[in-house]
Parts: sequence; C-alpha cells; structure tokens
Amino acid sequence: MNIVVCVKQIPDPAAPQSLEAGSHTLDRSGKLILDDSDAYGVEMALQLAEQAGGGEVTLVSMAPNGETAGLRTALAMGAAKAILVSDDALKGSDALGTAKVLAAAIGRVGADLIIAATESSDGYTGTTPVQVAELLGLPSITFAKSVAIDGGTVKVDRQTEAGYDEVTSPLPAVVTVTAGVVEPRYPSFKGIMAAKSKPIETLSVADLGLDGGQVGAAGGRQVITSVDEAEARNAGEIVVDEGDGAQRIVTFLENLKVI
Ligand SMILES: Cc1cc2nc3c(=O)[nH]c(=O)nc-3n(C[C@H](O)[C@H](O)[C@H](O)COP(=O)(O)OP(=O)(O)OC[C@H]3O[C@@H](n4cnc5c(N)ncnc54)[C@H](O)[C@@H]3O)c2cc1C
Repeated sequence: MNIVVCVKQIPDPAAPQSLEAGSHTLDRSGKLILDDSDAYGVEMALQLAEQAGGGEVTLVSMAPNGETAGLRTALAMGAAKAILVSDDALKGSDALGTAKVLAAAIGRVGADLIIAATESSDGYTGTTPVQVAELLGLPSITFAKSVAIDGGTVKVDRQTEAGYDEVTSPLPAVVTVTAGVVEPRYPSFKGIMAAKSKPIETLSVADLGLDGGQVGAAGGRQVITSVDEAEARNAGEIVVDEGDGAQRIVTFLENLKVI
C-alpha cells in the first residue's frame, strides 16, 4: 500500500513569531520544523503500510526556501521519500493555492491513500486537505480518530461532538487525522542517520505544470486584512479547598456552561 502524507513545515511554535515586513503573513524565513499535527499522520501511515505488509510512505510538502528540516524528521520516523515544492512564485499562496500545489505533487506519486492532519498548528484553516481531495476527484473523510484498511476500503471512526461515526470509503481517498489517532514514534538514532540519505525531490511550480497565475499571491482569493495581538490571559481563579472545593469547581464550570 502506497500512502502519501501531507506534511507542513512550520516556524517553531515555541520560538517568538513575527510577521513579514509590510505583510500580514507569518515570517517563515527561518528554520521550519515538522508540524506536530502531521507527526500523527506520518505515524498512522507507517503503521498502515506495515500492516499491509508492503508499500511505502511518501511525504509531500510545500515550503519556502527549499526547507527540508521538518521533512528529515518525518523521514527519520520511517517514511521512504519526500517531495518538496518550493518556489518564490508560491509566496502569498492561500489555502486553495496550497491545495493546488499539493494535489499536483500527489498526482505524480499515485497513492492508495492520502493522509493529512485535520488542521495545521500555524494557519489552521482546516480546509486544505478537502480541497486537495476535490482537486484530485477523490472522496475525503475528516476528523479520523482511527483508520483501518480492509481490502480496497478505508474504515474510519470519525470524531463528532456526540461521539463518533463509522465511515467507509473506497480507496483511493483523502483522510484527515486528529491528534491522538496514534502515538507518534520518536525517531531513533538509526532512523536519523538513514534519513540523511533518503531522497527529497524538490520541484518548482513549472515542474508541476501549474500556471503561476493559479498560485502564490497572484492566484490568491483570500486576503488577510488585519492581524491583532491575542488577548493576554487572565490570572485565573484559585480555589482553596475548605472541604467544599469539588462543589465550588463544579459550580464554576457550570457558570461557564462547560458542564
Ligand atoms: C492570504 C494568505 C497568504 C499566505 N501567504 C503565505 C506565504 O506568503 N508564505 C507561506 O509559506 N504561507 C502562506 N500562507 C499559508 C499557506 O499557504 C498555508 O500552507 C495554507 O494556507 C494552508 O493553510 P492551513 O495552515 O490553514 O492548512 P490546514 O488546512 O489547516 O492544514 C491541514 C493539513 O493540510 C496539510 N497542509 C497544509 N498546508 C500544507 C503545506 N504547505 N504542505 C504540506 N501539507 C500541508 C497538512 O497535513 C496540514 O496539517 C498564506 C495563507 C493565506 C490564507
């Protein structure tokens, strides 16, 4: 079974973030790392390929400046190879532009299953994977909390507010996974060393046969009109337990309509 995993490389969320000068978009010029959200997809793909007893996991990423650090992490986990699409013409790409690039790259591989995260950690529109599915003419199943393959069918427990739905789809299909679908492995030393020599094919917009007017700022349909600082967190409320602590916490949560 050949599986493609969409892997977004993002600025380290633990480091201070800034916007590009004169723009409302995140400065992605520094080192990028594997988005934690996508580590779950990589692990899921590795397990499904292992269970199928054959095939390989290919990573597909669109990122600026030929960045491969996040891809190397996913290769160290066990993926076989990667495709990176990196091109100055992609600057300013919105979610649909990104989906066009990913769909074109995936189309070169020929996958039985395409896995992405439900949403990324930095942009999190949560729209890219379903747009990829639409562009490829494939069914998509979102919010998977478990994924199993049965012959030519994928079976997904799809998380809902009330619990989960059991959804099946013929393959090939696009599935987005939630955090916790599986526990991502830590790359071993052997895996890290092996990843250094695994192939990463770097492609431009022209290599994908895309017209520059479809992607990047030129093809963008979304515009970020303003960006505001997130509100500072309140100090919170400390409940000192004088025998009625549990009840006071319940009342507090009830007032918030959390329970
Ligand atoms: C107006 C606008 C301008 C932008 N300008 C730039 C820019 O100049 N430079 C820039 O780098 N980005 C830019 N972005 C962000 C970039 O294009 C995002 O990758 C894209 O919008 C995807 O959005 P998301 O993070 O919300 O993905 P989501 O839909 O939340 O992502 C879900 C999943 O899809 C997959 N996925 C998403 N993006 C990628 C990717 N790039 N590669 C591989 N897999 C992916 C991953 O599995 C991810 O977890 C811009 C976005 C907007 C809306």
